[in-house]
Amino acid sequence: MPRMTPLLDRNEQFARAYAPVPLGLPTAQVLIVTCLDHRIDPAIVLGLQLGEAPVIRNAGGRVTPAVIDDIAYLAFLAEQLSGRQGPADTLFEVAVVHHTQCGTGFLDDPDFRRRAAEATGVPEAALGASAVADPHVTVKADVERLLASPLLSPKVSVSGHVYDIATGRVTTTLDARYP
Ligand SMILES: [Zn+2]
Repeated sequence: MPRMTPLLDRNEQFARAYAPVPLGLPTAQVLIVTCLDHRIDPAIVLGLQLGEAPVIRNAGGRVTPAVIDDIAYLAFLAEQLSGRQGPADTLFEVAVVHHTQCGTGFLDDPDFRRRAAEATGVPEAALGASAVADPHVTVKADVERLLASPLLSPKVSVSGHVYDIATGRVTTTLDARYP
């Protein structure tokens, strides 16, 4: 049996009670950047409903150039959409959420990183850039990186948080601030 079969059955259940959400501003006025780890789905952890918040996920939840590009585009799009209702002073808050027990933490070890680079063909520097050994340290670095980017709209604020896999609790490391 294809592995997607049970998930498609769940989707059938979902679609039966589904009501489509029109394209518009995210109603929570928050954009989440977090890790792709299957133990930290923001919809479940933060109780997000459809239409509330865009989510960008990668290994570690790191603020990479690709993530910054996406945020720049989403800010432009939000500005366009809000323009229909009158120009907005603020658009949304980017919440960067790193977590404990991150699988990218192994990449902090030079020997592991070298072996991973050899096995995958991914440059060692790129692997090192996604490492989250201490989420409290990396989340601060990524909030600062995003705030320092010339691509970040002045109408977008940035905050930093850590999700604890052991307790299920999200704590705020850096309160939201504008560039
Ligand atoms: Zn992770």
